[in-house]
Amino acid sequence: MAAMGLGFHNERATPMQIDGKTVIVTGAARGIGRGIAEAFANQGANVVAADLGSLALEAGSDWHYSLSAETELEAAASEINQRGGTCMAIEVDVSDRDSCQNLVDESVAAFGGLDILVNNAGIIQTGPIVDFAESDWDRVFAVNVKGIFLMSQAAIPHLTKIGGVIINVASVAGKRGFAHMGAYCASKFAAIGLTQSMAAELAELSIRVNAICPGNVDTSMWFDHLSKSKQRQQEYSTDTVEETFAAVIQDRVPLGREQTPSDMAEAALYLTRADNVTGISLTVSGGFEMN
Ligand code: NAD
Repeated sequence: MAAMGLGFHNERATPMQIDGKTVIVTGAARGIGRGIAEAFANQGANVVAADLGSLALEAGSDWHYSLSAETELEAAASEINQRGGTCMAIEVDVSDRDSCQNLVDESVAAFGGLDILVNNAGIIQTGPIVDFAESDWDRVFAVNVKGIFLMSQAAIPHLTKIGGVIINVASVAGKRGFAHMGAYCASKFAAIGLTQSMAAELAELSIRVNAICPGNVDTSMWFDHLSKSKQRQQEYSTDTVEETFAAVIQDRVPLGREQTPSDMAEAALYLTRADNVTGISLTVSGGFEMN
């Protein structure tokens, strides 16, 4: 029997074609952001790789581990271009309103519009809540939460023109609390809340907003900070950061392997194309977190 007679709606919107679209990826100089930028370039997108670059000297040099350097941002962009992709590097500090506006303005001027925003830039600081520095708390929220707000505010007027996509990189730490990770967990729970709120609000403009929640990815965030935390090394009685990371994966990840930037890139491509999906927080963690 024809489904139409029963009142079913089988029409399907066409999934967004990534080829020729313009995407901004923040925190793209290395790690997960770089993986996402490369994947969009492979699909034929015009990619704006945004990161602190030389601004790290002002905004990031006093952080607890090294944020990316100017050379890394340039290298990420030029490698994409050498492989035949289209990528422009632009410096941004996502915690600064003018800097976010400038990033969006320059991207639109270069490529004629904006279709996709990936809010990936993020920082972490761990430690017992009882003596956690207020300045660290503020800094984590300024990048991980306010950064999403400021970048989205600058991008939305352009995204509305085509029915665009926002993807926020949250974390499994946005779904469950972990000891010594109060500020980071709270910031990632907030990122998920903001994702849902924007999804509900922007749906009528045909803008979809989703989050990705990575599990354990061997980036600088893990190796330069998390693996070195005294708590982790004592928990697993390991000597090196590599051993700590491997022990965490073995102990906690049902699928028994770490996650990679390309796992996160796959999720970002899916969320870009999934035209009937908004407001979700897609966990990619090998079963470490099942919500
Ligand atoms: P990373 O430290 O390698 O990359 C983060 C990037 O963000 C760096 O290049 C850094 O320079 C940039 N950045 C920091 N502050 C910035 C600012 N104010 N303005 C612009 N850029 C800024 O770490 P990563 O693991 O690739 O992290 C990427 C995202 O994934 C983060 O949001 C992080 O919280 C999230 N995440 C990572 C893991 C993991 O296991 N590595 C797990 C869950 C979530």
